[in-house]
Amino acid sequence: MKMETYFLSNEDILKFYDRIVKDYQLYVPVKTKTPIKIACDYGFSLPTDDYILKEYSAVNKEEIVFNEYRPIEPVRTFFNQYKEEVGEYFAQETIEKDKKEKPVAISGIKNCDIFSLKIQDFVFLGKDDDIVDPFYKKRRQDALIISGDCPGFKEACFCRAFDINPYCEQGFDFNLSVLNNGYLVDVNSKKANLIAGSIRDLLTPATLGQLSGRSAKRDAVIRKLDEHLSHHKIPKKEVLQEIVKAGHNSQIWHEQMRTCVECGGCIFMCDTCHCFLLSDEISGNNSKRLRVWDGCLLKNFTRVAGGGNALKMRYMRLRNRYIKKFDFFIDNIGFQACCGCGRCIDVCPGRIDIRNILRRLYDEKYLPAS
Ligand code: SF4
Ligand code: SF4
Ligand code: SF4
Repeated sequence: MKMETYFLSNEDILKFYDRIVKDYQLYVPVKTKTPIKIACDYGFSLPTDDYILKEYSAVNKEEIVFNEYRPIEPVRTFFNQYKEEVGEYFAQETIEKDKKEKPVAISGIKNCDIFSLKIQDFVFLGKDDDIVDPFYKKRRQDALIISGDCPGFKEACFCRAFDINPYCEQGFDFNLSVLNNGYLVDVNSKKANLIAGSIRDLLTPATLGQLSGRSAKRDAVIRKLDEHLSHHKIPKKEVLQEIVKAGHNSQIWHEQMRTCVECGGCIFMCDTCHCFLLSDEISGNNSKRLRVWDGCLLKNFTRVAGGGNALKMRYMRLRNRYIKKFDFFIDNIGFQACCGCGRCIDVCPGRIDIRNILRRLYDEKYLPAS
């Protein structure tokens, strides 16, 4: 369907959300305080606020904001829960998950998050729809995605290094772009169109002036983000696979892991990570199978019965993360499993920075040793 764009005034945004909660369990962005604030080393005055997504029905409406950049939590948390029951052994009836749950609507996700869903879809929906995770599939199909442009960015944001723009042009149902007195609302799916059709009194077709105003704002954010990223010197996406392979025996992995405390923050906050383990639990006369998030930075990620561990050393685990993201995925789907959201940078107590590691791998391969 052809995307249509409307104007929604500031006063009517809550009416828009009120309409959505009739059919969906809606999550909206609110500001939150976090202890870790990363300032810019290059003199840019960048925001350090953080946002989280909260259930609409549980927040004071005055708390709801339009977030300038992505929220703290990765979007995958809505489709693939940290810990969930995926089967039972001896039950009389099979589990019917999500039977009574309303589908979710998520407002406040950004284009890095939209990009990350391509990775999650590849893993959980399969290439040819043959190996499908039914829980993920149902949530993903039913969800309403309300993305938004990024009028600002955090120090850790580096989407543009991989040619991902700080605004969405596909992959959403609704997209909101902030104007001075309201929002441009892109309507991009049948389910969004159905909702838009029921609130026509709130929406007026976007004018050429509003559309060109949005383009100017988008271009301005790109210019500023590109200028900021030029200081970080992040390698282009075309060389990622090459530099990670060439750096297999690099000392960088050892050096970087000196400050790792193995908290798992980087893997659990990552938009594109997706590994899990299955474990069984006894529940009354029954036995249930649980799926729990896992990740290669954790010591026991590859431990097997008998105690063997293919990624015994910490440097091996860090390297594995980069091989998976920048070699395996490029080989299998043609692009990297990283969207530049910077969540792993924000969360790491060891100050381990993916941008720095990629730059150093590039330098080792291409710059002559001094
Ligand atoms: S990484 Fe890019 S798209 Fe994501 S929040 Fe930051 S500026 Fe926006
Ligand atoms: S590796 Fe870091 S920047 Fe890349 S998707 Fe994961 S959290 Fe975001
Ligand atoms: S967030 Fe940092 S300290 Fe924690 S596991 Fe990841 S690299 Fe190690």
